[in-house]
Amino acid sequence: MKAIMYHYIRYSDPEFPYFRHLHWEDFQKQLDYFSRSFQWISKTEFLEAVHDATSCPEGVILTFDDGFMDHYAYVLPELKQRGLWGIFYVPTGIYTTARLMDVHRIHLLLGKWGGRYMYDALQEMVTDEMLTDEHIEAFRSRTYRSQSNDDYTLHVKRTLNYYIDYACRGDVLNTLMGCYFPEEDKLKQRVYMSTAHLRQMQEEGMLIGSHSVTHPVMSKLTLQEQKREIDESFSFLDEATGGLAIRSFCYPYGGFHTFTADTEALLDQSGCLFSFNVEPRDITAGDLQKRPQALPRYDCNLFPHGNCRPIEQNSTQKREK
Ligand SMILES: [Zn+2]
Repeated sequence: MKAIMYHYIRYSDPEFPYFRHLHWEDFQKQLDYFSRSFQWISKTEFLEAVHDATSCPEGVILTFDDGFMDHYAYVLPELKQRGLWGIFYVPTGIYTTARLMDVHRIHLLLGKWGGRYMYDALQEMVTDEMLTDEHIEAFRSRTYRSQSNDDYTLHVKRTLNYYIDYACRGDVLNTLMGCYFPEEDKLKQRVYMSTAHLRQMQEEGMLIGSHSVTHPVMSKLTLQEQKREIDESFSFLDEATGGLAIRSFCYPYGGFHTFTADTEALLDQSGCLFSFNVEPRDITAGDLQKRPQALPRYDCNLFPHGNCRPIEQNSTQKREK
């Protein structure tokens, strides 16, 4: 069985010319491709396989991470029309603050202003004291060979994810958001689904799962903190949906370094049936039997039509409109 992972799925938006997303039409083409090339596994078949863990059906299931409004606005109607279903993993912290998650703030800043612009903004704003010592030089150097927008984007992401002292990161992002998206609470409502949307999705046959509360690297937390991320997110989703159909989890970031055997044990204890990581391979009966809290999953970009369109195409569209 193949599980496929999606994040942003939308039309190109002239307001966000550099935004990296799977284009809505490419998503539809990819669903067509899966229909032609594989079987779809129904929700009933899938849940039976997870419960029995004796055999694993051949075919495809779909998963969608991060609670984006895209999933309600575009994915839900399309899946319904095709008679399909999906699992939607939501970090519940998005409902308890007026801010966006830091990881999504970075996507939006870069998506609206582009790598070059954000690079310059950071060079002006970030002082050496905010940087970890070994990264000051890397941050100040301007040694990109092609100096394309993508090079700058990479530099901005590295700066915000590694070069800046972790303690300063929140402040730097708060300042950037204050400058470039002063109405963050309104933007947040455009980016994420509401709890009413979650409830409706479940009522219409979709599965809702936990993606933690704060979207942390679970392995960096204490056992107690990990337990809180798991238990609080499940309780929140139970309340929001009127009772989750089943408990399922997907690890933020998702590589094998992002969770431990302890995390898997905590998930077992919380009544979680299965969890996804991002190891790109098929799920086997052995996985369901022996390690249901670490099921593999493919990124959509490993299959035809699953790549982001080049930025130039978005920008061209912008000029045409
Ligand atoms: Zn995520």
